[in-house]
Amino acid sequence: MRSVCWIMAIALAATLTSVAQNKETAPQTTTIIRAGTLIDGKSDTPRRDQVIVIRGNRIDSVSDAASAKIPPGSTVIDLSQATVLPGLIDSHTHIFLQGEDPAEGGYDVNILKYPASLRAARATVAVRRALEQGFTALRDVETEGAGYGDVGIKQAIEGGYIPGPRLFVATRAISTTGGYPLEGYAPELTMPKGAQLIDGPVEARKAAREQLDNGADWIKVYMTHRSWVGKNGELVSQPTLTLEELKAIVDEAHGWGRKVACHAYSGIGLQRALDGGCDSIEHGLQISDAQIAQMVKQGTWYCPTISVYYTDWGPEDTPAGKRDRLRASAHEESFRKAMKAGVKIVFGTDIGGIPWTEPIAQEFPRMVKLGMTPMDAIRSATSRAADMLDVTGQIGVIAPGAFADVIAVPGDPLKDIQELGKVQFVMKDGKVFKTESRDQR
Ligand SMILES: [Zn+2]
Repeated sequence: MRSVCWIMAIALAATLTSVAQNKETAPQTTTIIRAGTLIDGKSDTPRRDQVIVIRGNRIDSVSDAASAKIPPGSTVIDLSQATVLPGLIDSHTHIFLQGEDPAEGGYDVNILKYPASLRAARATVAVRRALEQGFTALRDVETEGAGYGDVGIKQAIEGGYIPGPRLFVATRAISTTGGYPLEGYAPELTMPKGAQLIDGPVEARKAAREQLDNGADWIKVYMTHRSWVGKNGELVSQPTLTLEELKAIVDEAHGWGRKVACHAYSGIGLQRALDGGCDSIEHGLQISDAQIAQMVKQGTWYCPTISVYYTDWGPEDTPAGKRDRLRASAHEESFRKAMKAGVKIVFGTDIGGIPWTEPIAQEFPRMVKLGMTPMDAIRSATSRAADMLDVTGQIGVIAPGAFADVIAVPGDPLKDIQELGKVQFVMKDGKVFKTESRDQR
């Protein structure tokens, strides 16, 4: 095993932004990263022995080590025995969810028993975990009853109060009456809901306006809810919003220059999502050939979140168990067909739906197993996700002008995709957040 010497000069504690620091007057530091192998997030092939020059929080230049000029007084980070990549992007997370383990009260306990402060504290831990694993940006697609808590966590990260990735937040999400938990309680009770429920285009547009006004970067809409196995063995999903309701939301969001992510499993709800102009389909468990063709034509993004459908299956001979197995098998087929057709696929995990203690990178081998090349899987979590988030060239790439969000893994993720679960170095916004010395263990 190679001995990797990770420069320890920059201590973890020193990486947290000093809140008191005046950003205007802070001297601009120059940092050099020596990369043994560089996967830049965009190119088809890696490059050997590269030097990345970082000024302040931006990448200034990337060049061959042989010809690189090292500015005097620079801090040098030696990753010459490692593979360096852009910080990763998970395009489907829930920082305010903590798994849905039935033994711990399932989904409902989050809303019914946890004080907002506890949920915010646990979200603070979640974002830190994401950053530790090399995810320097998250699209967090709704707070599950925690209101605008994601906006506050984002502000805390941007203000330097807590460490965390760049957040693109969706706030409350939108569904319809009968289209989201909490459910199953006595009808006499008015229960809180995990999303903002609307009925009719007027309420739909108003909800979108409220959410955008309160800081939503994206609008998240639930276009399907319950699902079961149909008479012909197909996956049936209960549609929620009408086309008119969705169109009101999309029209409003697009007017603000924002995008709409649609949770849609299959069937009518998925069709309405496409006809209504959704920008990204979340999950897309059973997508027909015609729907795939429509996604290609419209440029719709596909965030499949594969891993989450392999956990918590019901017993095999029960309706729920049959549905759970069909979800996974139909999903695999949809993923393969979408990939073949050239649908723009982005990496997403739905973590939060699975506990934050689990590794986020587990989605990579799932994608590769279904036929995606490791390089394309990396792009789905870097430059392609950045395109979807309208920050092309800013994040998800190691190139001049981009934010200095840089990670490193010890081995070659193109040979073994599991390497992406072994992130040992994390820089976000030009500041080292994590650096591990393997020879100090
Ligand atoms: Zn989700």
